Amino acid sequence: KPVTHVVGQTKIMAIINQKGGVGKSTTAINLSAALGELGKQVLLVDLDPQGNSSSGLGIEKSQVNNCIYDVLLNDVPIEEVIIPDVCEGLDLVPATINLAGAEVELVAEMARENRLKDAVGSLRGKYDYVFIDCPPSLGLLTVNALVAADKLLIPIQCEFYALEGVTKLLDSMKRVKTRLNPTLDIYGVLMTMYDGRTTLSRQVVEEVRAYFGRLVFETQIPRTVKLSEAPSFGQPITLYDPSGKGAQSYMSLAKEVIARG
Ligand code: ADP
Repeated sequence: KPVTHVVGQTKIMAIINQKGGVGKSTTAINLSAALGELGKQVLLVDLDPQGNSSSGLGIEKSQVNNCIYDVLLNDVPIEEVIIPDVCEGLDLVPATINLAGAEVELVAEMARENRLKDAVGSLRGKYDYVFIDCPPSLGLLTVNALVAADKLLIPIQCEFYALEGVTKLLDSMKRVKTRLNPTLDIYGVLMTMYDGRTTLSRQVVEEVRAYFGRLVFETQIPRTVKLSEAPSFGQPITLYDPSGKGAQSYMSLAKEVIARG
């Protein structure tokens, strides 16, 4: 990170879609790393009990003392849980399987919807971007992300039934917007695992663009083997295969995000 870098207004974004396997963690890891490489200060908060964003950035369970669970339920300050510099410009708040219990344990807590907002809000001014990698459900963890976030980034896989469940997500967003987070909105919709050789991929993109219009990013993330291999090496695509299509596409997404402001 350049020493001269001055952090602007922090943008807190939830990477969200209650469907599993649509590219949330892949996007969380690689968009964060790409923005870091472009000189931004980025924090990735892993809010998925699977911990794929954490392991995909090379963080092993044995290296983690406290995780986001302890921030949400044990009043541990988020600063104490941050793992700095997992790659250039990128810090991480890891998740472990402990987080699986949080969904149930939060139910009995006071201000249970605001836990993440309070924690992450204390970091405003320290980062350009805070991304929250959400679990594949619309439970209390996801509600915490909806309350904490300024905007939503929704990855959609170029597959049959791509828009299935999106109405439910938008309903949840509207409910949280009405009661708890009035300025919440969609920041962008990202088409993932795009295969330009198939009519299916092209049709899905058409359908999603018809539904979301200009909210859909110009950048589409292609399906590439390298993107699926990188996590097992604990590296973002920008390090694992810097000149490949996957890295190019996430760099291009990062530039689009910067340009969108
Ligand atoms: P989610 O976080 O929504 O559950 P993941 O990011 O974990 O989704 O992606 C699901 C699976 O698809 C993972 O095995 C991941 O490596 C793979 N994957 C994601 N994006 C791509 C892509 N663009 N090309 C190839 N494989 C991908």
